Amino acid sequence: MRKIAIVTGASRGIGRECAKALAKSGVTVIANYNKSEKQAKSLKEELEKENIQIDIFKADVTNKEEIKQMVEYTLNKYGKIDILVNNAGISQIKLFTDITDEDWETMIKTNLSSVFYMTREVLPNMIHNKNGCIINISSVWGIIGASCEVHYSSAKAGIIGMTKALAKEVGPSNIRVNAIAPGIIETDMNNELTKEELKELEMEIPLKKIGKPEQIANCVKWLVNDNYITGQTIKIDGRMDNRIKNKANQSTLFLQILVCECKEQISKTIIKPPYCKRRLYLYISCVYWSLLTFLL
Ligand code: NAP
Repeated sequence: MRKIAIVTGASRGIGRECAKALAKSGVTVIANYNKSEKQAKSLKEELEKENIQIDIFKADVTNKEEIKQMVEYTLNKYGKIDILVNNAGISQIKLFTDITDEDWETMIKTNLSSVFYMTREVLPNMIHNKNGCIINISSVWGIIGASCEVHYSSAKAGIIGMTKALAKEVGPSNIRVNAIAPGIIETDMNNELTKEELKELEMEIPLKKIGKPEQIANCVKWLVNDNYITGQTIKIDGRMDNRIKNKANQSTLFLQILVCECKEQISKTIIKPPYCKRRLYLYISCVYWSLLTFLL
């Protein structure tokens, strides 16, 4: 009997590759999208050319009503849900002191609460069937933390906690819950980084390459086919974590000094910061402190 899967955020990037990989392996996939209807339709068309059927469904994963409709649609049409890939997510680079209430709430709602809403809606059917596989897409930043991405890191760390706890709770119902923590993966999410920044990051990764969405999709497929792994967080990051963490810590230190001591001057006189280039802050803070030392 064919397995039925819902993949959230499947219009682009990692989710799109997960939907493709599962569909190609014989799973019936409901590929969720929100804003990128064109890309979702192109995914459907791409697979249809290979005679593979896929359902696309528009739902905002921060909206409980729309989630309900997507799950009801799936259950009415296919009668069950075996696999849930909670992938939809957003990122934002901002200094901690600049994160507004709205930024925080949007981040937590999209990256963490959505995983709770989706899972809560799907679980009763899995429990009834005594079968299920839930895969949550976290991030290495949820394990080691990223400077200028505290809200993102918090949400991703929350996913890991949810994964471990829920795996214990639903294990007796034969439902496995795991997380994947990707490193830096080549998708639209990293569009803010310049080619040079990506190259530099690549050099800091021991495997000397940025990851591809297909590598995450392969792991999703593998977890779907396993039946004894649960409560785990699998890092797919080319072993980048420790090295990048040190760099980030150094930047953070400069950034904190910069924010506490001279934020006003910087924002008023030197530059209106776009808050998207960690390195820019590092440079500005170096210049500032050099000047200060020189003047004093
Ligand atoms: P991406 O290319 O920007 O794609 C994000 C996907 O999430 C899109 O399909 C988007 O759908 C969907 N999405 C966002 N908000 C949504 C909402 N409210 N409702 C429904 N769908 C929504 O990002 P990606 O790199 O593939 O990221 C996928 C996941 O991997 C995220 O959870 C991300 O945090 C995680 N991750 C990524 C990286 C990386 O380096 N790329 C690293 C670690 C973890 P629409 O466009 O249709 O709205």
